[in-house]
Amino acid sequence: MSFDFATAARIIFGDGSARQLPQLARELGSHALLVTDSFQPPSVGELIDALGETDLPFTRFPVSGEPSVEVIDQAKEAALRAGCDMVISIGGGSVIDSGKASAALIPNEGAVIDYLEIIGAGRKLDAAPLPFIALPTTAGTGAEVTKNAVLGSKAQRVKVSLRDNRMLADIALVDPALTHSVPPSVTASTGMDALTQVLEPYVTRMATPLTDGFCSEGLRRAGRSLRRVYEEPANAAARHDMALTSLLGGLALANAKLGAVHGFAGVLGGMYGAPHGAICAALLPPVIEANIKALTERQQDNPALRRYDQAAQILLDEGSADASDAIDWISETSRLLGIPGLGNYGVKAEDFAEIVSKSAAASSMKGNPIELTAEELTAILRAAL
Ligand code: NAD
Repeated sequence: MSFDFATAARIIFGDGSARQLPQLARELGSHALLVTDSFQPPSVGELIDALGETDLPFTRFPVSGEPSVEVIDQAKEAALRAGCDMVISIGGGSVIDSGKASAALIPNEGAVIDYLEIIGAGRKLDAAPLPFIALPTTAGTGAEVTKNAVLGSKAQRVKVSLRDNRMLADIALVDPALTHSVPPSVTASTGMDALTQVLEPYVTRMATPLTDGFCSEGLRRAGRSLRRVYEEPANAAARHDMALTSLLGGLALANAKLGAVHGFAGVLGGMYGAPHGAICAALLPPVIEANIKALTERQQDNPALRRYDQAAQILLDEGSADASDAIDWISETSRLLGIPGLGNYGVKAEDFAEIVSKSAAASSMKGNPIELTAEELTAILRAAL
């Protein structure tokens, strides 16, 4: 057995931990680019006020929606003008990815497109990114501990990653209390994203004993708290579980890859602008079904078959559960959380061929436990409509 595991230099987790931000930030730089959501919940406002009371100057860069290539180029310009030597992101996955990509681009010449996989020149970063602190305010993406930033290109109608091992945050500061204000529909979609991200790396071809441990713990916590966090938004224990599930998913996916759900998600997000978590939720049950069917027909000795059953046992906390029980539970959870099908976002059968051919090239698709045929991928989309 051999593996390679990389993560953020430091991970700090716990209710109230965000209060350490001013002191931690001062150790990493002298002028911060502070990337935030345009919408500011009170807990984030308080944090920014606390930062303002220190002697660390910062330049605000608010973003709205999932990040685009253009936004990163603008952030770089703003940071260079102000002389920023570090970046702080306080927000959901969109804000974290905006800050992470900006930290990478600021010390490197040119525009972000030059460095992008698939739609750009795929240049490697010459200079190391600026120091970067990530504070998630949603519990879903785990982006505080991943080495990529997902960016949308309106021109190409696709989302692609800027990726480099050096893009791992210097500090991931995960304070579950920051997620208490997340509205129900976002709690639902981000929660389903977190669940997907502890399930897909558990069955990939690149799973390792380290990532297995993270995924098992995440599955256990998502199983007991995903429905509860939606029903009881003020339940601190449930928010805590989901913030940890999200973090564990990030640790796992950055080192063991994902699978067909995320292979599709970047393409669908780019083409229709649907929220990432909602796309994952709609796709997760049909992807598990398709994978199990394909594995049973073509690769009965593939360990993923056994792993799906094990994942079901951990998720449902039931020793006799198998993959079909997990599919039922996930489908029912999606229904309870009010997650709509992909048709709700404008996905149409006429687009299936384009979606399938673009998704087949996505890097996450390569992590799927078995290579699915174009017919199988099309059937997944039909079932997720
Ligand atoms: P998001 O960051 O887009 O936020 C969703 C909504 O929630 C926004 O309207 C935001 O204003 C609001 N919000 C965020 N925190 C809040 C809070 N505490 N209180 C009230 N409202 C709040 O959603 P997300 O799901 O966290 O991130 C999605 C993005 O992350 C996508 O672009 C996706 O592709 C990317 N992603 C990245 C990785 C990675 O490893 N880099 C992994 C998965 C997903």
